[in-house]
Amino acid sequence: MELEFSGAARQVTGSLTILRACGRTIMIDCGLQQGGDEAEWGQELPLKASEVDSVLLTHAHIDHSGRIPMLYKDGYEGLVHCTGATEDLCSIMLLDSAYIQENDAEWQTRKALRAGKDPVEPIYTVQDAQRALQGFESHEYNDKFELFPGIQARFVDAGHLLGSASIELSVTEGGRTRKLVFSGDIGNLDQPIINDPEYLKKADAVVMESTYGDRKHDGHMESTKQRADEIRKIVEDTFARGGNVIIPSFSVGRTQEILYIFRYLYYNENFSVPVFVDSPLSVKATGVFSRNIIGYFDEEAMKVFDEGQNPILFPNLITVTDVADSKALNDRRESSVIISSSGMCEAGRIRHHLKHNLWRRECSVVFTGYQAPGTLGNKIESGAQSVKIFGEDIAVRAQIFKLEGISGHADKDGLIRWLEAFDPKPAQVFVVHGEQETALKFTDTIRSLGYNADCPSPGDICQIAMN
Ligand SMILES: [Zn+2]
Ligand SMILES: [Zn+2]
Repeated sequence: MELEFSGAARQVTGSLTILRACGRTIMIDCGLQQGGDEAEWGQELPLKASEVDSVLLTHAHIDHSGRIPMLYKDGYEGLVHCTGATEDLCSIMLLDSAYIQENDAEWQTRKALRAGKDPVEPIYTVQDAQRALQGFESHEYNDKFELFPGIQARFVDAGHLLGSASIELSVTEGGRTRKLVFSGDIGNLDQPIINDPEYLKKADAVVMESTYGDRKHDGHMESTKQRADEIRKIVEDTFARGGNVIIPSFSVGRTQEILYIFRYLYYNENFSVPVFVDSPLSVKATGVFSRNIIGYFDEEAMKVFDEGQNPILFPNLITVTDVADSKALNDRRESSVIISSSGMCEAGRIRHHLKHNLWRRECSVVFTGYQAPGTLGNKIESGAQSVKIFGEDIAVRAQIFKLEGISGHADKDGLIRWLEAFDPKPAQVFVVHGEQETALKFTDTIRSLGYNADCPSPGDICQIAMN
């Protein structure tokens, strides 16, 4: 039995690991490379679609799922196994990704033709994504199923995104059984809506993420009330000045967490302000969250559900999908909260809202997630006096806030806690899904705790000990 490391080896994005066992080739995640990882590694798949027998998917984020349509385009005929919520989220996210691929290719083609070059083909189309989605097969958390003779699989809640999972495989070869665990992305504790990551107890080999393997999150918040207090204060102060609150947010996951907090404020504190979600993908994702409650939401959110309410919807929430309605938001006199994407302000409608509100002292911008270096969000967050939006200089006069303690990833302590739950220690640990420096540091950290740990590079093949 062997593992071949391809994507997210000494990188964060493009998760893709290959397991060869019992004469089968199984792909664990098939994600798109993003940002710098794409520039360095491209999107090519490391093997032919005809060589793959099955795909197991940890969760819907595009850096884990985004190359699945390529696999089907190349002739893959097998299944993609995942949880039901992951399948549901993929049904909107893969189509959205395909739409972006088609648009990018169209734009590049126009440029290429002007330069006398050939047209550019998208890496996949909406049609490819639709075909891929027909190959999805969903499973409930903790249900064991036989993937192939000798290989049993189980999805365990990873507490990172709705439907996210760690994958446990029991592989029997030559009369011996070995347990492998792929962590997927490991969630943070006390994240709104979803459960905390479930700790697994037994494994012979573990492949684990290390996104925040050298950092500790500060400002951890335990309760919804704490988070709600923080947001309420910002909104009250801003509205008193006559401004708007602009919240750049990732469409899937973070947006629904923010809505969960506004719902709490509405029903528990009688705090009623107009909240707009202006992003077609966010609106669709909110629908997916509303359809996948049982089996996925945590105890607190389930209590709301059991009382007959939807945990992320409330009367003064207004969803906007139409472009004309989105533009009309800029003419509103009344102060409002506007949640829009993309989360790092690199694309999407949020840029229009920033253009119209960033220069106004009475407004506020609230960041809800990590802002990668070089992004517009990062420039605003780190104190730029002025930024360029659609080629225009926009002064940064609004108040800038960053919500603490709502990361979707475990920090260094959380990762170690997840690993230490295995008893006895797994014989082999492979560290992936982290910037090279971070992944290496985390590997050293766990070695010093007595683990036999490796930090594979792309293309490395590692044997799983069977004796
Ligand atoms: Zn993720
Ligand atoms: Zn990830």
